[in-house]
Amino acid sequence: MPARLTKLKRTGTPRKVAARAAVADPRKRLLRVIALLEANLGTPVWDGPKDALEVLVLTILSQNTTDPNALRAYQNLVSALPAPPTGKSAALPRDADGNLDKVRLRLSDAARAVEAPDWARVAGLGPDELAGLIRAAGLPQSKAGSILAALHWLYGLTGHYRLETAIEKLGLEAALAALTALKGIGVKTISVTLIEALGADLCPVDTHVHRIVNRLGIVDTGANRDRTFALLKPMIPAGRAYALHHNLLTFGRTVCTARAPACGNCVLRKLCPSRDKA
Ligand code: SF4
Repeated sequence: MPARLTKLKRTGTPRKVAARAAVADPRKRLLRVIALLEANLGTPVWDGPKDALEVLVLTILSQNTTDPNALRAYQNLVSALPAPPTGKSAALPRDADGNLDKVRLRLSDAARAVEAPDWARVAGLGPDELAGLIRAAGLPQSKAGSILAALHWLYGLTGHYRLETAIEKLGLEAALAALTALKGIGVKTISVTLIEALGADLCPVDTHVHRIVNRLGIVDTGANRDRTFALLKPMIPAGRAYALHHNLLTFGRTVCTARAPACGNCVLRKLCPSRDKA
């Protein structure tokens, strides 16, 4: 199994540019945020197709836990039930000490670097057996149920384990409806799968995106992430959603963190109604 994953591809030369004034209109504020994040962090670009089922399972594993934990659970699963290797050679981001770089790590990259498990054997496990293999990701019973539901649905529909075939067969909207009807697979999980595997122009709303756009007053949605997704989607200009999603992830891990946002050093400070209060 490869030991490292590639880092996220970005264009542009990041430079420090800060907001100079407040912007009253939430949509205009969002446009300013998009521009400032791209100026400061660069513009992440989609790095091409990946196996959609691998991304879906990695995304299920990442629910309510850190990406390194989810990656560990996936690697346990692959070690227990390996498929014949396909020669993946991408690398994980590492820090100066050689440890996994938790800021730069993107789980979708694991789909490029880590060989998939044998899905037929995974589908043949009982919920308790699968839960035992993915325990490192937390909520193992619930996640095992979701993974098995997706595998059984996929095999029943297509006779094999390629999610792309199901999407081609049903069409995107019907496939989305069928998948989100499965236990434990929500809008965020599917939208992450679609942007990373297929390059869809969407900004999935994870905990970082939800927290930051609420703090910035772009939406006001309390704890309802699906409502954030629905409100944010029409506000984002075409072609900018992928970069916004990844820049908000990086920004949420480094500056606008959940517990101790660095408002004093934030380039969005003048735009943000929550500065020094979050
Ligand atoms: S000013 Fe503070 S709360 Fe607002 S975006 Fe920046 S870090 Fe987050």
